[in-house]
Amino acid sequence: MRERLVAGNWKMHGSLAGNPALIEAIKAGAARQAGVECAICVPFPYLAQAAGLLQGTEVALGAQNASEHAQGAFTGEVSAAMLADFGCRYVLVGHSERRQLYGEGDGQVAGKFAAVLAAGMTPVLCVGETLEERDAGRTEATVARQLDAVLAKSGRGAFATAVVAYEPVWAIGTGRTASPGEAQAVHAFLRQRVLAETRILYGGSVKPGNAEALFAQRDVDGGLIGGAALVAADFLAILAAAARRKE
Ligand code: PEP
Repeated sequence: MRERLVAGNWKMHGSLAGNPALIEAIKAGAARQAGVECAICVPFPYLAQAAGLLQGTEVALGAQNASEHAQGAFTGEVSAAMLADFGCRYVLVGHSERRQLYGEGDGQVAGKFAAVLAAGMTPVLCVGETLEERDAGRTEATVARQLDAVLAKSGRGAFATAVVAYEPVWAIGTGRTASPGEAQAVHAFLRQRVLAETRILYGGSVKPGNAEALFAQRDVDGGLIGGAALVAADFLAILAAAARRKE
């Protein structure tokens, strides 16, 4: 059985003064949800603070990006080994905002994925099509291309531990969600390319009101949550929806 995972992506939100209240609320609520792993992916400057607050709890720490390089003259970059130093378990790679706003290509994303694995952490590979690609009938071709670049570099076996997050770009931060059936269809397609045990998360405007129907799908193993991860009650309600999923 694949353990469900609900991971919050804080994006560029948070503050030193405000983070403890959110993290304490998540810690308290997450402890009550058996069978679901919970993670929060915080901005780099808050890793030390979050690591301290999460110490001794089951809530995992994650980061939102890592360099594909091990070290060197890469001003402004953060290596995977540095993230491991802070106790990160998960690192997002290839989030659509990185691909779209910072021009990260499939080859670079594959390099980041390999670097995260080499540093002993679990990459969460984000894939997803734009609205234009969906409308042109290119959803499967797009996610296959994004995934295949990683498979070519790290191999299928890497997905014994690595996580995939299907995030249709048109659903991220837009309030528009893929229907449960649309999500399941893409997850089933991705599943054929990875492993039976690979966790495949859905992301894109997941809210307390739509989480249960999405998580009820056979190949949806949890969620990557953006906006709703910043509101403790919403994030915990999504976690509870994952815990209610029947096998
Ligand atoms: C995300 O940032 O990965 C995401 C899914 O955002 P939102 O839930 O806000 O759409």
